[in-house]
Amino acid sequence: MPTIKSVAVSAYSAPLEAPITNGLYTYTATQIVACRLELSNGISAIGWTHGEKIVFTAAEAIAAMLIGQELNAERLWARMYQPKLFGRRGLEQRALSALDIAVWDGLGKEAGMSVHRLLGGFHDSVPAYKAGGYYGEGKSLEDLQREVSGHVEGGARALKMKIGAVSVAEDLARIDAVRTAIGPDVGLLVDVNNAYDRITAEKMAAALDERDIYWYEEPLSPDDLKGAADLAGRTRTPVASGENEYTLWGFRDLIDASAADVINADAQILGGITEWAKCAHYAQAKHIPVAPHGDQEIHTQLVAAVPNGLIVEYYDNSLNRLKDVMFDQRLDLNADGSITPFSTPGLGVEIQDQAVERYRVAHSVVC
Ligand SMILES: [Mg+2]
Repeated sequence: MPTIKSVAVSAYSAPLEAPITNGLYTYTATQIVACRLELSNGISAIGWTHGEKIVFTAAEAIAAMLIGQELNAERLWARMYQPKLFGRRGLEQRALSALDIAVWDGLGKEAGMSVHRLLGGFHDSVPAYKAGGYYGEGKSLEDLQREVSGHVEGGARALKMKIGAVSVAEDLARIDAVRTAIGPDVGLLVDVNNAYDRITAEKMAAALDERDIYWYEEPLSPDDLKGAADLAGRTRTPVASGENEYTLWGFRDLIDASAADVINADAQILGGITEWAKCAHYAQAKHIPVAPHGDQEIHTQLVAAVPNGLIVEYYDNSLNRLKDVMFDQRLDLNADGSITPFSTPGLGVEIQDQAVERYRVAHSVVC
């Protein structure tokens, strides 16, 4: 079994063309922390997550525990997960996630198999939805309609828009404008990003039930499992949640509380691919589909692997300075709006170090 010789940890930051706003937050930059494992058999394996220097620092500290260890996913996960030293649910878990994802890229390369095949390979391709529909300074209903029409012209058969930053009435006008622009046959997902209290969430749910909405994402605080369960029980529109949940134990509580009809388990947040697979299988036992939040380069491999994989979130990387140049290959939507995982061993993409170097804000080699 190969051992881990060194881990290079890099933090990148690139400004967005224009700030984007969801129900609660405004983003001005893309920030990524990437880890590269060098193995004793000559394989170089990559993993990455989103976050800034605090994630970089955590990754550097956790990476030190991997040096000289054999490439064994469960043993390495158990070694990295130290609640007392690093915490249980937060940015440190993102750092662990990036390292665990790199372990799986390494396992795939060692086995000569894609992560998709290693994990089960159930689907050849899976549906995808286009992420977008943010708020923006001076962005009119017509601008929003132009944006979503462009997604549909680009092949999207489902798309997501943000709600929650303005009144329910104003958001319903935005939702109706989008539906008018995309027509009746394209799936429409709405995402609140935890912006509502229970009363507002209920009011919006009643209005969404009169419309055809694919899912209603994170209407409430991620800590309000009881509120989410009550809402999911009453509304006809499926409630999706989980991008702010961590570890198998967090998902056990979310699922056992019946707080989500669909789980948005994100391997870059919750604890990597080792933990993601457990969450997906636990959800399968409860007849709940999994539809991750986050990067398609990782999640297409995972959603396609499991029987209860529902749909992949798809970002237009050409609009993102860092992501546009980060990988050697681009995952495109198929003509029917679906997406097919790369069959190359591992995750199937390589980080182009030279292309992203100008966005690098921190770098360290742990050995
Ligand atoms: Mg979301």
